[in-house]
Amino acid sequence: MPHELLTAAEGLQDWLTTQRRTLHMVPELSLHEFKTSEHCAQQMAELGLKVTKLWGEGFIADLDAPNGKGRVALRADMDALPITELNDVPYRSRHGGVAHMCGHDTHMTIAMGTARLLAARRDKLTRSVRFIFQPSEELPPGGAKGLIDKGCLEGVDEVYGLHNNPQMEVGTVATRVGAMTAAADIFEIKLTGRGGHASRPHEALDPIPATAELVGMLQTLVARRVQPGKPAVVSVTKFHAGTTHNIIPDSAELLGTVRSYEEPVRARIIEEMERMVQAVAQAHGLKHEYKYLRGYDSIVNHESGVQAVAKAAAEIVGEGNVNTGFEPQTWGEDFSYYLQHRPGAFFLVGSGNRQKGITEPLHSARFNVDERCLAIGTAVMARLAL
Ligand SMILES: [Zn+2]
Ligand SMILES: [Zn+2]
Repeated sequence: MPHELLTAAEGLQDWLTTQRRTLHMVPELSLHEFKTSEHCAQQMAELGLKVTKLWGEGFIADLDAPNGKGRVALRADMDALPITELNDVPYRSRHGGVAHMCGHDTHMTIAMGTARLLAARRDKLTRSVRFIFQPSEELPPGGAKGLIDKGCLEGVDEVYGLHNNPQMEVGTVATRVGAMTAAADIFEIKLTGRGGHASRPHEALDPIPATAELVGMLQTLVARRVQPGKPAVVSVTKFHAGTTHNIIPDSAELLGTVRSYEEPVRARIIEEMERMVQAVAQAHGLKHEYKYLRGYDSIVNHESGVQAVAKAAAEIVGEGNVNTGFEPQTWGEDFSYYLQHRPGAFFLVGSGNRQKGITEPLHSARFNVDERCLAIGTAVMARLAL
């Protein structure tokens, strides 16, 4: 017997599909979610929720429980990506060069569907529910911090967020205790010497051998400076110097990324990398510049939150379709900041369907979802909140 909430959500499938396709056709970039936000806010207001605009186009919508205690928050992100959609579907993006290729249209739809289910069960609510419609997830520093600074978590006891995942079959749910996504950072290094004729290196100060040496040294950061068993990645992705065969260049530049899951590991890499840059520059008599740009922090799920997600999801999709040992993802997400303030969890809802060929990853120009994930996501979110 399917859960009552799943049956109810499936009863809304046509409405959910229409909502998602409506949003899908008019995608808007980070910090420009004007029409998107207006549409969602209007739907929430029509359901009787109290809408309060907080930061940028971001807003909260409160559903108060007449007989309940406490408040749970459910977050949906609203922005699209600067990609031209290549799907040949009637609801294809109408905005050239912009498309919902991360599926945030499905997240907003699930939030609206959840509000619809819960508004119809208001007297059964054991606690109030706050929906957080967040702008700018795709563009660091992200909208989460802006909304939190404006008080979106005030009066909230727990917070949950989801992301669709086309690499998981529709009807499955995944999460994990601890690190769920990576902290994704960028580093930029420049070593400057003095250019000259390639035939007279003693009169120049060549930055290339020193920079090559530094690339080698950076490979030892994870192997020799991070505790074994703690995952981290340091990748040099660009090495740029020089113009032609007979000129020693003035400077050489490196660019790369660091991925980590725990703040002490990240802090250690930042510190040791700087030391290496300084040491190599000094040893070769070069000047150095070192810039380290922190991306989003890693999402670290709370155990209590994961337990709540696992229980709710098992009731909706069956225990066998819930994976609570999902491997940490290497992408970044600014849901991390909510969990630094309140307990809760982030989880993934399967949106793929191999049989139907729906397997394109997030951020692909051919990304799409099996729209049954809308009803499933809605039922799981509603069960979590009830
Ligand atoms: Zn994305
Ligand atoms: Zn996303």
